[in-house]
Amino acid sequence: MTTVSVLTIDLNELEEGGTTFTWNSSAEDLDLSDAEVEFSGPIRTVATLHRLADTLSAQGQTTYTIGVSCARCDEPIELSCYTTFHFVFQKDKPKGVEGDEDETLVWLDVDADELDLGKEVRDYVLLEIPMNPVCKEYESGTCPNLVDVEKAESEASDRGKADPRWDALKALKNT
Ligand SMILES: [Zn+2]
Repeated sequence: MTTVSVLTIDLNELEEGGTTFTWNSSAEDLDLSDAEVEFSGPIRTVATLHRLADTLSAQGQTTYTIGVSCARCDEPIELSCYTTFHFVFQKDKPKGVEGDEDETLVWLDVDADELDLGKEVRDYVLLEIPMNPVCKEYESGTCPNLVDVEKAESEASDRGKADPRWDALKALKNT
C-alpha cells in the first residue's frame, strides 16, 4: 500500500459502501503555500467515502496546526485548527446548471475515474484559518498591549464595516 499525499481516490477501485481514507499532506501538496500562515506538521485529512450505485459522497475532517502572530500583541502562536466537510459528487453536469451556489455539490466528468478532494479541502482549510488569532495572554486578559490593540482593532473593524446608511444613500441617488 502506497501512501499518497494528494487527496485522490481511484473510483475504479472504490467499493460499494463506506471506505475511510487518511492523508497526510503538506501545504505544497494542497496548494496552500501562498496562504499567509505557516503550516507546522502535516495537514491530516480523514474522510469516509460512501458509494451506493451511482451516488458518491465524502464526509470527513481535516486537522492542521498553523503558526501565526497574535492579532493583538504580535507574539508568535501555534494554533490547532480543524474543519469538517461533507460533499456530494455527481457526474455529468447538465448544461445551463451553474452548480456554484452549492459548495457541497461537486461535479465530476462523466468518464472520471479519479476523485480529487484537494481543491475542496484546500478551500475549507483556508476558510477556517482565523482572521484574528489571539494568544493565551490575550484570552485571559493579561496581555500587556490590551488597550492599544483593542483600540486599533475597533478602528479597523469600523473601516471594514459597510455602513447601511450608505446603501440607503446610494439607493436614493440611483432613483
Ligand atoms: Zn497576544
